[in-house]
Amino acid sequence: MLTAEQIISQFEEWAPMSYAEDWDNVGLLIGDAGAPVKKILVALDATEEVIGEAVAGGFDFIICHHPLVYNPIKRVTSADSTGRKIISLVKNGIGCFCAHTNLDKAVGGVSDCLAEKIGLNYVSPLIKEENECIGIGRVGFISEETTLSRLAENVKISLNLPSLRFSGSSDKKIKKVAICGGDGSSARYVDAAISQNCDAYITGDLRYHCVQEALESGIGLIDITHYGSEILVVDAIISRFKNQVEIFPSSIDGQVFKHIGNH
Ligand SMILES: [Zn+2]
Repeated sequence: MLTAEQIISQFEEWAPMSYAEDWDNVGLLIGDAGAPVKKILVALDATEEVIGEAVAGGFDFIICHHPLVYNPIKRVTSADSTGRKIISLVKNGIGCFCAHTNLDKAVGGVSDCLAEKIGLNYVSPLIKEENECIGIGRVGFISEETTLSRLAENVKISLNLPSLRFSGSSDKKIKKVAICGGDGSSARYVDAAISQNCDAYITGDLRYHCVQEALESGIGLIDITHYGSEILVVDAIISRFKNQVEIFPSSIDGQVFKHIGNH
């Protein structure tokens, strides 16, 4: 039987913690590294609901994408949700491991899952790390030139989204595309997509002024939501471990937005 440590070391080969950004908090955040792991639950976020699902389903380990805790905390009590989550995990003997920006960058991680689903070829990082072939986001080419509105429609279908927002001229010709999982609204990412002459940039969490500025450069933008851009990685994690341990995706829909209107 695998221990938490063995799972973590396999993860380390895939998405080393050294890839993570300085501000990030990845790795085993709760639990005993030496403990055996029988049943793993995989989710983007270890929310109270997801932890409840783990308790009810007899899981003893959670792998999640977003860190359970980012900043140092001074107390662990049931007065706040972080405290409640930690108490519940410890009480129920459930370990919690997070792979965040290291998994965004890794080969076969968040960015590659998204690039593959969208059908990008000749893929390279949007932001290259020094001396590494990995990095945040991806740039690639779609097989056949299309228009921005047709690309948006195809992305909506391939990601199974109830709706999405796009910005730019509907008939803009699209061949070279940048993508970034999660919050891709940072000027650094948008500028990288523009400076590499991408015709469109697909990400989540796009904001009004960021879009407005980007539009002036002529790039098309597609907002697939933070959750929609990252949820694909859950299956990639499961594929890595399914032959070694019982591992399941969370059945809780972690999308924070609901949609109304005609779609
Ligand atoms: Zn994210």
